Amino acid sequence: METLNKLLSIELNYIIIGLIEVFYTLEQVLNTQFKYSKRPHHLVHNILFQIAFFIGNFFWAAVTVFSIEWLNQHQIGLFYLIQLPLWLKLVLGVALIDLVSYWFHRMSHRVPLLWRFHRVHHSDTTMDTSTYFRAHPIEVLLWFGTLNIIAAGIFGLDLLTLGLYFLISTPFFILEHTNLRFPSWLDKSFGLIFTTPNLHKVHHEQDQHYTDSKYADIFILWDRLFGTYKYKPVEQIKFGLKEFEDAKKQTFWYLFKSPFINVTRISSDELVKAEKSSL
Ligand SMILES: [Zn+2]
Ligand SMILES: [Zn+2]
Repeated sequence: METLNKLLSIELNYIIIGLIEVFYTLEQVLNTQFKYSKRPHHLVHNILFQIAFFIGNFFWAAVTVFSIEWLNQHQIGLFYLIQLPLWLKLVLGVALIDLVSYWFHRMSHRVPLLWRFHRVHHSDTTMDTSTYFRAHPIEVLLWFGTLNIIAAGIFGLDLLTLGLYFLISTPFFILEHTNLRFPSWLDKSFGLIFTTPNLHKVHHEQDQHYTDSKYADIFILWDRLFGTYKYKPVEQIKFGLKEFEDAKKQTFWYLFKSPFINVTRISSDELVKAEKSSL
């Protein structure tokens, strides 16, 4: 318990920065899975998202802490109605935040207004560690802020559970986007329960048939349970969104404005037609 408290008292941003440094370095020295096109350009624009992400973080962290403390003081949520040992509350709490995140993510693909913000994350045509940060600042506020408060309100979760969730989910998020090779046995074992980097990359495939699948962050179990598990070998994946492929649409400023621009989503059928006509 003491160790857990100590771990959670480390500022989350430091953990994120440490992990990025490790994986950025590995991506430089190891043989990467996919080739980069215009790597410096890609990095500069994703770093701008990273800065916006950190600024957003400070804001939602304050709002989240205030809201969850208020909910806990008023003993709101299911866990206040039942007696459970602390370890079980923590395990269930982490799984339940992940479940709420799964449904929020799924809604972001279905509800056109949410997709306008979420598509920024999917727009990246080259995946690496920095892709994790490519999220519209409004989505960062919506997703991280409201989602955790909603989960805490429904289930009666506290800040310790939320801290543990971030401690576990952050390495998952960063690893899932990193441009490194991971063996397929990892998907066949660990990937039965957890989201592996190769499995999350299916979610970044251009073809909407695959983009609209694999919504889970930590537990791939949610996709298996709710029928959104689809598979494509990682070496066949083409990243990004066809409608954002143009270099001009890969800049921070364009993507920042993009939720307010009408960009028609290209369906699987249209993608096949476009691929055939370009041959
Ligand atoms: Zn998505
Ligand atoms: Zn992703």
